[in-house]
Amino acid sequence: MSAGWHTQEPASSEGIPLQKGSKALLKAYYANAHLPSPMGGFLEPLSVRQESNGAGTILLECSSSSLRFELSVPKANRAEKAKVKAAQEAGDVPLCPRHEDPVQRLQRIGGHLVCPRCGVRFGRPI
Ligand SMILES: [Zn+2]
Repeated sequence: MSAGWHTQEPASSEGIPLQKGSKALLKAYYANAHLPSPMGGFLEPLSVRQESNGAGTILLECSSSSLRFELSVPKANRAEKAKVKAAQEAGDVPLCPRHEDPVQRLQRIGGHLVCPRCGVRFGRPI
């Protein structure tokens, strides 16, 4: 760690923030694929955290170095929220729009519909 890290937000951080290549990692995570670690080996998901702004954070551990990393999951966009709402209104089980195989049901947590796999809020139960 070099100087200048004071601009980060270490308060709730349990791992090293992954920035470079995070888009590809997210895509692999959504698809339930292996996540290559920047240290070699693979990243194993340890836990999923919900952020107060509706985004999620996934804590990962590297299989070769045991270093822990955090992958930030972007908040739901308007199209995703609309898709979830349409499913609810049609009487269907609301699914996380980001996982296809296997699909993931959203859970009611604290008045929100939250994906347990990515920690993102997609709306409210109706
Ligand atoms: Zn999800």
